[in-house]
Formats: sequence, C-alpha cells, structure tokens
Amino acid sequence: MPIEMRSKKINSLKVITSLKEMQKICLNLRKTDSKKISLIPTMGALHDGHLGLIKKAKKKKSTIIVTIFVNPKQFNDKKDLVKYPKTFVQDLDKLERMDVDYLFAPRTKDIYPDDFQTKVVVKNLKNHLCGLSRDGHFDGVTSVVLKIFNITLPDYAFFGEKDLQQLIIIRQMTKDLNLPIQIISHPIVREKDGLAMSSRNIRLSKKERTIAPFIYRGLVEAKKEFKKNNNRSASQVTKDLRQYLLKNNINKIEYIKIIDSSDISYPKRPSLKNYIVIAVQIGSIRLIDNLKL
Ligand code: AMP
Repeated sequence: MPIEMRSKKINSLKVITSLKEMQKICLNLRKTDSKKISLIPTMGALHDGHLGLIKKAKKKKSTIIVTIFVNPKQFNDKKDLVKYPKTFVQDLDKLERMDVDYLFAPRTKDIYPDDFQTKVVVKNLKNHLCGLSRDGHFDGVTSVVLKIFNITLPDYAFFGEKDLQQLIIIRQMTKDLNLPIQIISHPIVREKDGLAMSSRNIRLSKKERTIAPFIYRGLVEAKKEFKKNNNRSASQVTKDLRQYLLKNNINKIEYIKIIDSSDISYPKRPSLKNYIVIAVQIGSIRLIDNLKL
C-alpha cells in the first residue's frame, strides 16, 4: 500500500473522551448508518489478546469502537490500580494500525461524577471463583459495562474467554436486562510458550516470567489425562494439577476448579464441555487462565 494511502488510513481513528459526544455520535450512527456498531471494552495496555477481539469485530464489517478505561471500581486492591500498566501512546498506534473507527477514552471523573450512586449487581454468579477474593470486583465490572453499553449503543460487544467468569456474568446481565446486544466471545490468545496474554504480564520479573507458562502446561496436562480417562473425578483432576503447579514453583494457588460454564456449577464427574479454571499468584502478580476439557 502506498505510504500516502496508509497514512490517510492511520489518521482515521477518532479519539473521544466526552461521554455526551460519544453517545451523540452513536445515536447518529444508529440513525443514519446502516452499519452495525461493534464495541470492544478494554482497560488499555493493549496486546494481541485485545487485538484478537478487534480482528473478530472487523469481520462484522461494522463501525468499531474500542474503549480504554481503567475502572477504579473493579480494583479491590488500590495498589494494583496504581500499578496497572498504562501505555496510551502505544495503544493509539495499535488502534490506528488496526483501522479502528473510534477510541472512547473517558475520564474517571466523568464516568463517576461526585453524585454517582448506581451499582449493577449480578447476584449469584459473582459469588464464585475470582469474586471470592476480589470483593466488589464484578459489581464494578457490570456497572461500568452497562454504562459503556448505554453510551456506545452497540449491536455487538466482544469479550475474551480469558476472563471466563466475567464473560458469563456479562451474558447473564445482558439476558436479565433484555439488552439488545449480542455478546460475542473470543478464545484466549496466548504467547508462544502458552502463557495467556495479559496486560499484567509485563509486570512479571524475568524469573517469574519463566515460571508463568507452567499454568497453561499444567492445564494441557490435566486435559490430556482427562482425555485418556474421562471417568476421573473433578477432585482427582484438580488435585493432580495442584501437584503439577507446586512441583513447578507455583505455590500461591487461589483456586483450581472445574466448572460448567452455563451457570458456574461444579460437576463432580466432569465432561468434555466443562472448563478447568485457575487463579494463581506469581510474585505479586495475580494470573488467571482456563481450558475446556
Ligand atoms: P482487559 O483490558 O484486561 O480488561 O481486557 C479487555 C478484554 O480483552 C476482555 O474482554 C478480556 O477478556 C479480553 N482479553 C484480555 N486478554 C485476553 C487474551 N489473552 N485473549 C483473549 N481475550 C483477552
């Protein structure tokens, strides 16, 4: 592609910070443009996992809106919020290259003005897995996602399977509230060595980074063993995986569970449609992953 054409394309990204302006644009798009609207909500520090969602959205030939908002209400640990990676300039570059139409990057004080009072709670599904250690996390997620839905009025919203519980909860909220939005999921994008991509990975030390891929290797091993003998109970599978992780220097294990992703129940006798889900801490970094059996 000639450079002039490429630079023209690169300049087509529109960055919007005002909530009112974003909503006005989206109302207008819905009225005047036959194209659908695709939304990809993120917290920035974009990597190939996020870009995978954007690529999937592009297949819909829709107007693409990516949001970057580091939502303070979903951080139960304020230190984690302060340390959350911020790479706005690089993010802009990536979005321009992906030919995204709009970046919506609101300010915290605009999302949560002083008199903000509303909370969206998906009651039961949040009381499992990550919700047990991250008090208020999913209420923060659902509240901000609904708010972003109401501003950007999407037809499609894309979420990664990496945050499986989040995806399940958003689907439930969308169903419960009859939101006219199709929730589309995308498989986990991984580094070459299997580590699930995450904005937090850049905070791992060199040594921690060499340990982290054992999460995925352990999941693959557990799946392999289950395929050989699918009479194995959930507790056998999770016990063996725990041993595997401990042997490979991953000893801060928050949970290892096998779930039915339709309702986050815990089958004692798993089947191939169930997921092994896992949360561990390596150094000070909390990492999650999952794999379908
Ligand atoms: P985050 O910026 O971490 O809040 O993530 C924004 C969206 O990207 C969420 O829907 C995540 O599930 C998704 N995502 C993050 N990492 C990955 C990954 N490695 N593979 C697929 N989706 C991902």
